Amino acid sequence: MYSRIIIKNANIFDGIKTKPFKGDLYIKDGMVEDIDENIDIGDSKAIRRIDASGMMVMPGMVDMHVHLRDPGFEEKETIESGAASALAGGITTMLCMPNTRPVLDEPALLQYVIERGRNTGVRIYPAAAMTRGLEGREMTSMGLLAEAGAAGFSDDGMAVADARLMFEIMRYSRQWKKPLILHEEEYGFSRSGLVHEGRYSDSLGLEGISRLSDDLMIGRDIMLARESGARIHITHLSTKGSVQMIKRAKDEGVDISCDVTAHHLFFDDSCLKSFNTSFKVKPPIRSAEDRQALIEGVIDGTIDAVISDHAPHLDTEKNTTFSLAQFGTIGLETLFAASYTSLCRGKGLQPGKLVSLLTSGPAKLLGFDAGTLEKGKRADAVMVDTGGSYKVRKEDIVSKSRNSAFIGQELQGRIIYTISNGKIMYESG
Ligand SMILES: [Zn+2]
Ligand SMILES: [Zn+2]
Repeated sequence: MYSRIIIKNANIFDGIKTKPFKGDLYIKDGMVEDIDENIDIGDSKAIRRIDASGMMVMPGMVDMHVHLRDPGFEEKETIESGAASALAGGITTMLCMPNTRPVLDEPALLQYVIERGRNTGVRIYPAAAMTRGLEGREMTSMGLLAEAGAAGFSDDGMAVADARLMFEIMRYSRQWKKPLILHEEEYGFSRSGLVHEGRYSDSLGLEGISRLSDDLMIGRDIMLARESGARIHITHLSTKGSVQMIKRAKDEGVDISCDVTAHHLFFDDSCLKSFNTSFKVKPPIRSAEDRQALIEGVIDGTIDAVISDHAPHLDTEKNTTFSLAQFGTIGLETLFAASYTSLCRGKGLQPGKLVSLLTSGPAKLLGFDAGTLEKGKRADAVMVDTGGSYKVRKEDIVSKSRNSAFIGQELQGRIIYTISNGKIMYESG
Protein backbone atom coordinates (compact mmCIF):
# COMPACT_ATOMS: atom_id res chain seq x y z
CA MET A 1 0.00 0.00 0.00
CA TYR A 2 1.23 3.49 -0.89
CA SER A 3 2.20 5.76 1.99
CA ARG A 4 2.07 8.71 -0.37
CA ILE A 5 -0.90 9.77 -2.47
CA ILE A 6 -1.30 12.80 -4.70
CA ILE A 7 -4.73 13.85 -5.87
CA LYS A 8 -4.48 16.27 -8.80
CA ASN A 9 -6.84 18.87 -10.28
CA ALA A 10 -9.61 18.45 -7.74
CA ASN A 11 -12.35 20.81 -6.70
CA ILE A 12 -11.27 20.93 -3.08
CA PHE A 13 -13.67 21.72 -0.26
CA ASP A 14 -11.72 21.96 2.98
CA GLY A 15 -14.73 21.80 5.32
CA ILE A 16 -14.13 25.36 6.56
CA LYS A 17 -14.49 27.75 3.62
CA THR A 18 -17.73 27.53 1.67
CA LYS A 19 -16.02 28.18 -1.66
CA PRO A 20 -13.91 25.42 -3.20
CA PHE A 21 -10.56 25.88 -4.90
CA LYS A 22 -9.04 24.01 -7.79
CA GLY A 23 -5.86 22.24 -6.79
CA ASP A 24 -3.98 19.25 -5.44
CA LEU A 25 -3.92 17.32 -2.20
CA TYR A 26 -0.70 15.59 -1.20
CA ILE A 27 -0.91 12.95 1.52
CA LYS A 28 2.16 11.47 3.20
CA ASP A 29 2.39 9.06 6.15
CA GLY A 30 -1.22 9.54 7.11
CA MET A 31 -1.11 13.32 7.14
CA VAL A 32 -1.98 16.15 4.76
CA GLU A 33 1.53 17.10 3.65
CA ASP A 34 0.35 19.85 1.36
CA ILE A 35 -2.81 21.28 -0.13
CA ASP A 36 -2.25 23.86 -2.83
CA GLU A 37 -2.91 24.97 -6.37
CA ASN A 38 -0.22 22.96 -8.08
CA ILE A 39 1.97 20.61 -6.09
CA ASP A 40 5.00 19.19 -7.89
CA ILE A 41 6.33 16.04 -6.23
CA GLY A 42 8.40 14.69 -9.15
CA ASP A 43 7.58 11.35 -10.77
CA SER A 44 8.46 8.81 -8.08
CA LYS A 45 6.85 5.39 -8.63
CA ALA A 46 6.20 5.11 -4.91
CA ILE A 47 3.43 7.68 -5.07
CA ARG A 48 -0.15 6.81 -5.92
CA ARG A 49 -1.47 9.38 -8.38
CA ILE A 50 -5.15 10.13 -8.73
CA ASP A 51 -6.50 12.47 -11.36
CA ALA A 52 -9.52 14.18 -9.88
CA SER A 53 -10.45 16.41 -12.83
CA GLY A 54 -14.11 17.32 -12.52
CA MET A 55 -14.32 15.63 -9.12
CA MET A 56 -14.99 17.01 -5.69
CA VAL A 57 -12.56 16.29 -2.86
CA MET A 58 -13.69 16.92 0.70
CA PRO A 59 -12.85 15.87 4.26
CA GLY A 60 -13.91 12.43 5.46
CA MET A 61 -17.47 12.83 6.70
CA VAL A 62 -18.60 12.80 10.33
CA ASP A 63 -21.94 11.04 10.90
CA MET A 64 -23.19 11.82 14.37
CA HIS A 65 -26.07 9.33 14.45
CA VAL A 66 -25.49 5.67 13.56
CA HIS A 67 -26.84 2.36 14.88
CA LEU A 68 -24.21 -0.38 14.72
CA ARG A 69 -26.32 -3.09 16.45
CA ASP A 70 -23.22 -4.51 18.13
CA PRO A 71 -23.33 -5.89 20.83
CA GLY A 72 -26.51 -7.92 20.68
CA PHE A 73 -27.90 -7.78 17.16
CA GLU A 74 -24.85 -8.80 15.14
CA GLU A 75 -27.05 -10.48 12.56
CA LYS A 76 -28.11 -6.96 11.45
CA GLU A 77 -24.75 -5.16 11.64
CA THR A 78 -21.45 -5.50 13.44
CA ILE A 79 -18.94 -2.82 14.28
CA GLU A 80 -16.80 -4.10 11.37
CA SER A 81 -19.60 -4.33 8.80
CA GLY A 82 -20.91 -0.91 9.88
CA ALA A 83 -17.44 0.56 9.44
CA ALA A 84 -17.14 -0.96 5.95
CA SER A 85 -20.52 0.54 5.06
CA ALA A 86 -19.41 3.93 6.44
CA LEU A 87 -16.22 3.89 4.35
CA ALA A 88 -18.27 3.11 1.24
CA GLY A 89 -20.25 6.23 2.11
CA GLY A 90 -17.20 8.47 2.60
CA ILE A 91 -17.63 8.53 6.39
CA THR A 92 -14.45 8.28 8.46
CA THR A 93 -15.78 9.32 11.88
CA MET A 94 -19.05 8.34 13.52
CA LEU A 95 -21.00 8.41 16.73
CA CYS A 96 -22.91 5.22 17.46
CA MET A 97 -26.07 5.07 19.51
CA PRO A 98 -26.38 3.05 22.72
CA ASN A 99 -29.61 1.09 22.03
CA THR A 100 -27.73 -2.20 21.68
CA ARG A 101 -28.22 -5.34 23.79
CA PRO A 102 -27.02 -4.81 26.44
CA VAL A 103 -27.58 -1.07 26.29
CA LEU A 104 -24.37 1.00 26.45
CA ASP A 105 -24.94 2.17 30.01
CA GLU A 106 -21.76 0.84 31.66
CA PRO A 107 -18.12 1.87 31.08
CA ALA A 108 -17.08 -1.68 30.13
CA LEU A 109 -19.57 -1.68 27.25
CA LEU A 110 -18.24 1.62 25.93
CA GLN A 111 -14.76 0.09 26.11
CA TYR A 112 -15.97 -2.85 24.01
CA VAL A 113 -17.20 -0.54 21.24
CA ILE A 114 -14.07 1.61 21.35
CA GLU A 115 -11.75 -1.44 21.25
CA ARG A 116 -13.63 -3.19 18.46
CA GLY A 117 -13.75 0.02 16.47
CA ARG A 118 -10.04 0.67 16.71
CA ASN A 119 -8.77 -1.09 13.60
CA THR A 120 -11.73 -0.58 11.31
CA GLY A 121 -10.41 2.51 9.53
CA VAL A 122 -13.29 4.54 10.96
CA ARG A 123 -13.06 6.51 14.19
CA ILE A 124 -16.00 5.12 16.11
CA TYR A 125 -17.17 6.98 19.18
CA PRO A 126 -19.96 5.66 21.38
CA ALA A 127 -22.78 7.71 22.83
CA ALA A 128 -23.75 6.43 26.28
CA ALA A 129 -27.27 6.01 27.60
CA MET A 130 -28.75 8.79 29.75
CA THR A 131 -30.97 6.36 31.67
CA ARG A 132 -30.26 2.77 32.72
CA GLY A 133 -31.39 0.28 30.09
CA LEU A 134 -33.02 3.23 28.24
CA GLU A 135 -35.91 2.68 30.62
CA GLY A 136 -36.38 6.34 31.45
CA ARG A 137 -36.39 5.69 35.18
CA GLU A 138 -32.92 6.15 36.60
CA MET A 139 -29.97 8.24 35.44
CA THR A 140 -26.81 6.37 34.40
CA SER A 141 -23.43 7.08 36.03
CA MET A 142 -22.76 9.81 33.50
CA GLY A 143 -19.48 10.88 35.07
CA LEU A 144 -17.97 7.42 34.80
CA LEU A 145 -19.32 7.03 31.29
CA ALA A 146 -17.82 10.36 30.22
CA GLU A 147 -14.46 9.23 31.64
CA ALA A 148 -14.77 5.92 29.80
CA GLY A 149 -15.08 7.69 26.46
CA ALA A 150 -18.74 8.60 25.94
CA ALA A 151 -18.72 11.34 23.29
CA GLY A 152 -22.31 12.27 24.05
CA PHE A 153 -25.35 10.97 25.89
CA SER A 154 -28.56 9.72 24.33
CA ASP A 155 -31.53 7.45 24.93
CA ASP A 156 -32.11 7.36 21.16
CA GLY A 157 -34.95 5.12 20.15
CA MET A 158 -36.71 6.24 23.30
CA ALA A 159 -37.67 9.58 24.77
CA VAL A 160 -37.38 10.34 28.49
CA ALA A 161 -41.07 10.74 29.31
CA ASP A 162 -40.52 11.95 32.89
CA ALA A 163 -39.90 15.70 32.63
CA ARG A 164 -38.45 15.92 36.13
CA LEU A 165 -35.89 13.17 35.38
CA MET A 166 -34.99 14.89 32.10
CA PHE A 167 -34.43 18.12 34.02
CA GLU A 168 -32.15 16.36 36.53
CA ILE A 169 -30.16 14.80 33.67
CA MET A 170 -29.77 18.23 32.10
CA ARG A 171 -28.61 19.84 35.33
CA TYR A 172 -26.18 17.03 36.02
CA SER A 173 -24.82 16.99 32.45
CA ARG A 174 -23.51 20.55 32.62
CA GLN A 175 -20.32 19.22 34.22
CA TRP A 176 -19.17 17.63 30.96
CA LYS A 177 -18.84 19.32 27.64
CA LYS A 178 -20.80 16.53 25.96
CA PRO A 179 -24.15 17.08 24.33
CA LEU A 180 -27.38 15.38 25.32
CA ILE A 181 -28.68 14.01 22.02
CA LEU A 182 -32.45 13.91 22.27
CA HIS A 183 -34.87 11.66 20.38
CA GLU A 184 -38.14 13.49 20.87
CA GLU A 185 -41.38 11.57 21.02
CA GLU A 186 -44.48 12.07 23.13
CA TYR A 187 -45.90 8.59 23.59
CA GLY A 188 -49.44 9.78 24.14
CA PHE A 189 -49.36 11.01 20.55
CA SER A 190 -47.06 8.49 18.84
CA ARG A 191 -48.73 5.42 20.46
CA SER A 192 -48.94 2.64 17.88
CA GLY A 193 -48.67 5.06 14.97
CA LEU A 194 -46.77 3.93 11.89
CA VAL A 195 -46.44 6.95 9.58
CA HIS A 196 -47.04 10.71 9.47
CA GLU A 197 -50.62 11.58 10.38
CA GLY A 198 -52.03 13.33 7.34
CA ARG A 199 -53.49 12.86 3.93
CA TYR A 200 -51.63 9.64 3.12
CA SER A 201 -52.14 7.92 6.47
CA ASP A 202 -55.87 8.57 6.00
CA SER A 203 -56.11 7.37 2.43
CA LEU A 204 -53.89 4.32 2.96
CA GLY A 205 -55.48 3.34 6.26
CA LEU A 206 -52.23 3.45 8.23
CA GLU A 207 -52.25 4.71 11.81
CA GLY A 208 -50.71 8.17 11.99
CA ILE A 209 -48.22 9.91 14.28
CA SER A 210 -49.12 13.55 14.88
CA ARG A 211 -46.52 16.31 14.60
CA LEU A 212 -47.40 17.00 18.22
CA SER A 213 -45.43 13.90 19.18
CA ASP A 214 -42.19 15.68 18.20
CA ASP A 215 -43.20 19.25 18.87
CA LEU A 216 -44.50 18.85 22.43
CA MET A 217 -41.30 17.16 23.59
CA ILE A 218 -39.03 19.61 21.78
CA GLY A 219 -40.95 22.50 23.33
CA ARG A 220 -40.64 20.87 26.76
CA ASP A 221 -36.92 20.25 26.39
CA ILE A 222 -36.23 23.78 25.19
CA MET A 223 -37.90 25.02 28.39
CA LEU A 224 -35.91 22.59 30.51
CA ALA A 225 -32.65 23.53 28.78
CA ARG A 226 -33.33 27.23 29.26
CA GLU A 227 -33.96 26.64 32.95
CA SER A 228 -31.07 24.23 33.53
CA GLY A 229 -28.47 25.81 31.24
CA ALA A 230 -27.76 22.39 29.70
CA ARG A 231 -26.29 21.83 26.27
CA ILE A 232 -28.86 19.91 24.20
CA HIS A 233 -28.91 18.57 20.67
CA ILE A 234 -32.23 17.60 19.07
CA THR A 235 -31.72 14.79 16.60
CA HIS A 236 -33.67 13.89 13.45
CA LEU A 237 -36.02 16.87 13.13
CA SER A 238 -39.10 16.07 11.09
CA THR A 239 -41.60 18.92 11.52
CA LYS A 240 -41.92 22.52 10.45
CA GLY A 241 -42.84 23.53 14.01
CA SER A 242 -39.65 22.08 15.45
CA VAL A 243 -37.47 24.08 13.06
CA GLN A 244 -39.29 27.26 14.08
CA MET A 245 -39.01 26.52 17.80
CA ILE A 246 -35.29 25.77 17.61
CA LYS A 247 -34.60 28.86 15.54
CA ARG A 248 -36.32 30.97 18.18
CA ALA A 249 -34.56 29.18 21.06
CA LYS A 250 -31.18 29.80 19.41
CA ASP A 251 -32.00 33.50 19.04
CA GLU A 252 -32.87 33.58 22.73
CA GLY A 253 -29.51 32.09 23.69
CA VAL A 254 -30.54 28.54 24.62
CA ASP A 255 -27.55 26.18 24.21
CA ILE A 256 -29.20 24.06 21.52
CA SER A 257 -28.22 22.47 18.23
CA CYS A 258 -29.98 20.04 15.89
CA ASP A 259 -29.68 17.73 12.92
CA VAL A 260 -31.80 16.26 10.16
CA THR A 261 -31.53 12.93 8.32
CA ALA A 262 -30.88 12.63 4.60
CA HIS A 263 -34.15 10.72 4.19
CA HIS A 264 -36.25 13.46 5.80
CA LEU A 265 -34.64 15.91 3.36
CA PHE A 266 -35.18 13.65 0.36
CA PHE A 267 -38.69 12.26 0.75
CA ASP A 268 -42.12 13.44 1.77
CA ASP A 269 -45.00 11.21 2.81
CA SER A 270 -46.22 10.73 -0.76
CA CYS A 271 -43.58 7.96 -0.80
CA LEU A 272 -45.96 5.88 1.29
CA LYS A 273 -48.10 5.16 -1.75
CA SER A 274 -45.58 2.45 -2.64
CA PHE A 275 -46.32 0.64 0.66
CA ASN A 276 -42.57 0.09 0.89
CA THR A 277 -41.78 -0.59 4.55
CA SER A 278 -38.31 0.97 4.16
CA PHE A 279 -40.21 4.24 4.52
CA LYS A 280 -41.36 3.27 7.98
CA VAL A 281 -38.98 5.31 10.10
CA LYS A 282 -39.09 7.25 13.35
CA PRO A 283 -39.82 10.08 13.44
CA PRO A 284 -41.98 9.54 10.35
CA ILE A 285 -41.28 11.09 6.96
CA ARG A 286 -43.71 14.00 7.03
CA SER A 287 -45.56 16.21 4.56
CA ALA A 288 -44.12 18.18 1.64
CA GLU A 289 -44.54 21.34 3.74
CA ASP A 290 -42.50 19.89 6.60
CA ARG A 291 -39.81 18.71 4.20
CA GLN A 292 -39.62 22.20 2.71
CA ALA A 293 -39.23 23.69 6.23
CA LEU A 294 -36.37 21.26 6.96
CA ILE A 295 -34.64 22.31 3.75
CA GLU A 296 -35.09 25.98 4.66
CA GLY A 297 -33.70 25.21 8.12
CA VAL A 298 -30.57 23.85 6.46
CA ILE A 299 -30.28 26.85 4.15
CA ASP A 300 -30.79 29.48 6.88
CA GLY A 301 -28.37 27.77 9.29
CA THR A 302 -30.87 26.63 11.94
CA ILE A 303 -29.87 23.02 11.31
CA ASP A 304 -26.27 22.21 12.29
CA ALA A 305 -25.66 18.76 10.83
CA VAL A 306 -26.98 16.17 8.39
CA ILE A 307 -27.02 12.56 9.62
CA SER A 308 -27.87 9.09 8.33
CA ASP A 309 -29.61 7.58 11.39
CA HIS A 310 -28.36 4.33 9.79
CA ALA A 311 -30.73 1.72 11.25
CA PRO A 312 -30.07 -1.79 9.94
CA HIS A 313 -32.81 -4.43 10.03
CA LEU A 314 -33.11 -7.94 8.59
CA ASP A 315 -35.14 -8.54 5.43
CA THR A 316 -37.53 -10.65 7.51
CA GLU A 317 -38.19 -7.67 9.78
CA LYS A 318 -38.98 -5.40 6.84
CA ASN A 319 -40.60 -7.72 4.29
CA THR A 320 -43.82 -7.83 6.24
CA THR A 321 -46.87 -5.64 6.78
CA PHE A 322 -46.52 -1.97 7.62
CA SER A 323 -47.73 -2.56 11.15
CA LEU A 324 -45.29 -5.40 11.87
CA ALA A 325 -42.21 -3.93 10.16
CA GLN A 326 -39.43 -2.41 12.29
CA PHE A 327 -38.77 1.33 12.15
CA GLY A 328 -35.65 2.49 10.30
CA THR A 329 -33.67 2.70 7.08
CA ILE A 330 -29.96 2.22 6.52
CA GLY A 331 -28.22 5.31 5.20
CA LEU A 332 -24.43 5.44 5.59
CA GLU A 333 -23.71 4.68 1.94
CA THR A 334 -26.21 7.20 0.57
CA LEU A 335 -25.70 10.00 3.12
CA PHE A 336 -23.76 12.25 0.78
CA ALA A 337 -25.54 11.50 -2.49
CA ALA A 338 -29.05 11.75 -1.03
CA SER A 339 -28.39 15.08 0.65
CA TYR A 340 -26.42 16.44 -2.32
CA THR A 341 -29.22 15.45 -4.71
CA SER A 342 -32.01 16.98 -2.64
CA LEU A 343 -30.22 20.11 -1.39
CA CYS A 344 -27.61 21.11 -3.97
CA ARG A 345 -29.20 19.78 -7.15
CA GLY A 346 -32.79 20.23 -6.04
CA LYS A 347 -32.63 23.49 -4.09
CA GLY A 348 -29.44 25.22 -5.18
CA LEU A 349 -27.63 24.99 -1.84
CA GLN A 350 -23.93 25.71 -2.23
CA PRO A 351 -22.05 22.39 -2.06
CA GLY A 352 -19.57 23.92 0.39
CA LYS A 353 -22.40 24.55 2.84
CA LEU A 354 -23.49 20.91 2.63
CA VAL A 355 -19.89 19.76 3.08
CA SER A 356 -19.61 21.64 6.36
CA LEU A 357 -22.90 20.12 7.61
CA LEU A 358 -21.42 16.68 6.95
CA THR A 359 -17.91 17.36 8.25
CA SER A 360 -16.75 20.26 10.41
CA GLY A 361 -20.31 21.05 11.62
CA PRO A 362 -20.91 17.78 13.50
CA ALA A 363 -17.21 17.53 14.46
CA LYS A 364 -17.47 20.86 16.23
CA LEU A 365 -20.67 19.87 18.07
CA LEU A 366 -18.95 16.77 19.42
CA GLY A 367 -15.52 18.32 20.01
CA PHE A 368 -13.83 15.98 17.50
CA ASP A 369 -10.60 16.92 15.77
CA ALA A 370 -11.99 15.88 12.37
CA GLY A 371 -13.93 17.15 9.42
CA THR A 372 -11.40 19.48 7.80
CA LEU A 373 -8.62 19.20 5.23
CA GLU A 374 -5.66 21.16 6.53
CA LYS A 375 -1.93 20.98 6.13
CA GLY A 376 -0.37 19.03 9.00
CA LYS A 377 -3.62 17.34 10.03
CA ARG A 378 -4.71 13.73 9.69
CA ALA A 379 -5.60 12.85 6.10
CA ASP A 380 -9.24 11.76 5.99
CA ALA A 381 -10.56 12.63 2.55
CA VAL A 382 -13.25 11.63 0.11
CA MET A 383 -13.38 11.98 -3.66
CA VAL A 384 -16.87 12.32 -5.06
CA ASP A 385 -18.20 12.29 -8.61
CA THR A 386 -20.95 14.89 -8.73
CA GLY A 387 -21.10 14.90 -12.51
CA GLY A 388 -23.25 11.92 -13.46
CA SER A 389 -25.93 10.08 -11.61
CA TYR A 390 -26.23 6.49 -10.45
CA LYS A 391 -29.02 4.20 -9.40
CA VAL A 392 -28.97 2.79 -5.87
CA ARG A 393 -29.11 -1.00 -6.18
CA LYS A 394 -29.71 -3.53 -3.45
CA GLU A 395 -26.87 -5.76 -4.69
CA ASP A 396 -24.32 -2.95 -4.27
CA ILE A 397 -25.04 -2.41 -0.57
CA VAL A 398 -22.02 -3.02 1.68
CA SER A 399 -23.91 -2.98 5.00
CA LYS A 400 -25.01 -6.34 6.39
CA SER A 401 -28.63 -5.15 6.14
CA ARG A 402 -30.36 -3.98 2.98
CA ASN A 403 -33.30 -1.98 4.25
CA SER A 404 -32.53 1.18 2.33
CA ALA A 405 -35.29 3.64 1.51
CA PHE A 406 -33.12 4.80 -1.40
CA ILE A 407 -33.08 1.58 -3.43
CA GLY A 408 -34.13 2.41 -6.98
CA GLN A 409 -33.47 6.15 -6.61
CA GLU A 410 -31.29 8.03 -9.10
CA LEU A 411 -28.73 9.98 -7.06
CA GLN A 412 -25.90 12.34 -7.84
CA GLY A 413 -22.68 12.30 -5.84
CA ARG A 414 -21.16 8.83 -5.99
CA ILE A 415 -18.26 8.17 -3.62
CA ILE A 416 -15.18 7.17 -5.66
CA TYR A 417 -12.43 6.98 -3.01
CA THR A 418 -12.43 7.15 0.77
CA ILE A 419 -9.08 7.83 2.40
CA SER A 420 -8.78 7.36 6.14
CA ASN A 421 -5.57 8.07 8.04
CA GLY A 422 -3.84 8.57 4.70
CA LYS A 423 -4.81 5.13 3.35
CA ILE A 424 -7.27 4.33 0.61
CA MET A 425 -9.91 2.33 2.50
CA TYR A 426 -12.61 2.30 -0.18
CA GLU A 427 -12.49 2.45 -3.94
CA SER A 428 -15.68 2.22 -5.99
CA GLY A 429 -15.77 -0.78 -8.33
ZN1 LIG B 1 -34.22 8.30 17.20
ZN1 LIG C 1 -31.52 6.64 15.72
